[in-house]
Amino acid sequence: MAFELPKLNYAFNALEPHIDAKTMEIHHGKHHQAYVTNLNNAIKGSDAENMSIEDICKNISKYPAAVRNNGGGHYNHTLFWEIMSPNAGGVPSNEVGKAIETELGGFEKFKTDFAAAGATRFGSGWAWLCVKADGKLCVCSTPNQDNPLMDIAEAGCKGTPILGMDVWEHAYYLNYQNRRPDYMNAFFNVINWNKVNELYLQAKK
Ligand code: MN
Repeated sequence: MAFELPKLNYAFNALEPHIDAKTMEIHHGKHHQAYVTNLNNAIKGSDAENMSIEDICKNISKYPAAVRNNGGGHYNHTLFWEIMSPNAGGVPSNEVGKAIETELGGFEKFKTDFAAAGATRFGSGWAWLCVKADGKLCVCSTPNQDNPLMDIAEAGCKGTPILGMDVWEHAYYLNYQNRRPDYMNAFFNVINWNKVNELYLQAKK
């Protein structure tokens, strides 16, 4: 079955003023759609046609670069839309919030480390909050459309992503131009911590 572009759970303008409607419309409708279309073309006739996007990422070393780039793009953006929402942000007090306190040195330290992961990623990539194999949280980043599910050392970190921040220029350039730090600050206002917590509890199982 071919992969499809997931619907957004909110309007393109719902994340304003933090992320503008035009950026959302192009990012979802053009960029993510292109990853989906190119992924479907890249897996045609292979066993990946019958696999989940998570399983494709976990076995990405077996597939050509087009599957890695577009499969990563599809997985990463699907997560990205889900972990953002209007009327969100703040400091989480749920289970993942407690784990950030005890395992990552507190929310302010997490925020600094997460922003640093995005800021120091040269060129395009993603910053992540992940659950490692031992059930503990970690903050890391990956280049291009790689992610921590992938079975390749170049991804640079390993775990189940529960929060991802897109630091490709296409995620912020219309509104923030070269000011990636301003975009990253704004991103904290749209993090849907209820969803992140749901993913945290699933990943811990
Ligand atoms: Mn993107």
